[in-house]
Amino acid sequence: MLTHRVNILVLFIFLLVFGVLIYTYKWSVATLTFPVLFFAIIEVVGASKLSANFHFNSICKAKTNEKIVSITFDDGPHGEATEKVLAVLKEYNVPATFFCIGKKIKNETSLLKKIEDAGHIIANHSYTHNNLFDLQSTTKLIEELELTNITIKKIIGKTPLFFRPPYGVATPALGRAIRKNNMVSVGWNIRSFDTSIKNSEKIFEKIKPQIKPGSIVLLHDRVEGCDIVVRLLLNYLKENHYTVVNLDKLINQPAYA
Ligand SMILES: [Zn+2]
Repeated sequence: MLTHRVNILVLFIFLLVFGVLIYTYKWSVATLTFPVLFFAIIEVVGASKLSANFHFNSICKAKTNEKIVSITFDDGPHGEATEKVLAVLKEYNVPATFFCIGKKIKNETSLLKKIEDAGHIIANHSYTHNNLFDLQSTTKLIEELELTNITIKKIIGKTPLFFRPPYGVATPALGRAIRKNNMVSVGWNIRSFDTSIKNSEKIFEKIKPQIKPGSIVLLHDRVEGCDIVVRLLLNYLKENHYTVVNLDKLINQPAYA
């Protein structure tokens, strides 16, 4: 598999070959731009696809033939919208994992407790989730993860082990921060595009053909109508004899330290 280390090795080989060609055939030194550019493109593409495991490993699905799937929610807790999602999950008696943003938890402490009391998993989705999240230093990223874990522990008494990178971007610095906090990066293999598509049925139609044994579905509980998508999804899973299990069971890893 093409990883960051393999890319560096390829760059090194290319630079050596180009160096020989420049020396032997008097090629322009500017031709070195090509291997460097190639390297940079691979780095950016690798970082933008979590499932590529380019800079660090992320679990994006489970290897199984059993008809089991997990449902995950990012960017909460988010007041009324999260409450509506919780109500549907309760009605169907289904567990889920909530990847929460640390700074949002401060104003939603009782809601976070309610999520945990209902038997769902609370996981870490950074503290700020800001637009420039991936450009921060390793030290800052370590703080982002730590602070969120501390905030969560104060409320539910447990330290999360699951972390989901904001925007699904994987950088070397984030990999170091995840390792430093002894966390596990968890991605998804079913993206619903629920933050851009406004119609609940259309969102569900995007999800439906992708459902396979071992799938991890990504939804956002902050999005209006998320509860409608969840209901459509749970009806479909039931009709097709799928069982929804929580993430710790699906990937066989503990959710808390
Ligand atoms: Zn997010």
